[in-house]
Amino acid sequence: KRKRLGCAAYDAKLDVEPEIDSRLALSAELRRAVENNEFVLYYQPRVNLANGHVREVEALVRWQHPDRACLLPDEFVPFAEQTGYIRDITHWVVGAAFAQTVRWRAQGLAIAVSINLSVRDLLSAGLPERFGELLQRHGASPDWFTLEITESAIIDDPERVLDTSAQLHKMGFSLSIDDFGTGYSSLALIKKLPVGELNIDRSFVTNMATSPDDMSIVRSVIDLAHNMGLRVVAEGVESAPVLELLGRMGCDAAQGYHICRPVPGGQLEEWLASREE
Ligand code: C2E
Ligand code: CA
Ligand code: CA
Ligand code: CA
Repeated sequence: KRKRLGCAAYDAKLDVEPEIDSRLALSAELRRAVENNEFVLYYQPRVNLANGHVREVEALVRWQHPDRACLLPDEFVPFAEQTGYIRDITHWVVGAAFAQTVRWRAQGLAIAVSINLSVRDLLSAGLPERFGELLQRHGASPDWFTLEITESAIIDDPERVLDTSAQLHKMGFSLSIDDFGTGYSSLALIKKLPVGELNIDRSFVTNMATSPDDMSIVRSVIDLAHNMGLRVVAEGVESAPVLELLGRMGCDAAQGYHICRPVPGGQLEEWLASREE
């Protein structure tokens, strides 16, 4: 059995693996990774700031390469998007998240799971149908899941994204705008999308306790979202003062290393069990 090193929660900056230098080599390796299912899902909890409960997690993919350390999405997702492998990766991710959520529900853990979609996924034909098949295969319910869409996807082809989003929403999935504030989408477009949630990008959140500018941005986004009837999730919470500020500002949920790093499903169960709510 393959060694399962390296995918433990760690700081990406400490990852000293050699760079994969050739695109051709990476392409061949990705193909093999897709064939051999070398991916793993990690889960990062989100705390509900109104009551301190954790009932939602974000699924984050890792590539458990057989002879490298664990690769983070930034090291292979952009390439997978360019080469088209993202379609298979997303299919795997969604199936794995559905299967895990069904197991949790069977154990009495009513956890909602957010899943990241890439630009390519939203433009790919037949995505809602493929998700429908996966729901059936795993016996999962769409209202257990939120699909996260980035702003860049929306501007690439707004009509297509609107169409796909509407279909996914009609099926019963919740939708969310990821990394809000870093893209260029218009508010008019966001208004048209059937989203229920905005995720404030961590670049505004992490240092907000010491940066008045960041703090104003976060406050404005929270107000804007609430005025549009949307929930707000703040990402990148790395300290207690930021967590407290967000609570006072009325932010709905928070996620970050200060609360918990992304961990494998089993560790998430232990973490949840060790918490007092
Ligand atoms: P994201 O959707 O914005 O996910 C949050 C990222 O922030 C994760 O990085 C998470 O580990 C990291 N993070 C969480 N808390 C903190 C914190 O307190 N401080 C800092 N500095 N970082 C924190 P990760 O797992 O490396 O993922 C990076 C990006 O890759 C994600 O950003 C998402 O856009 C993409 N991604 C992840 N999983 C998938 C997937 O299954 N499919 C697709 N298409 N994209 C994915
Ligand atoms: Ca996300
Ligand atoms: Ca995000
Ligand atoms: Ca991000």
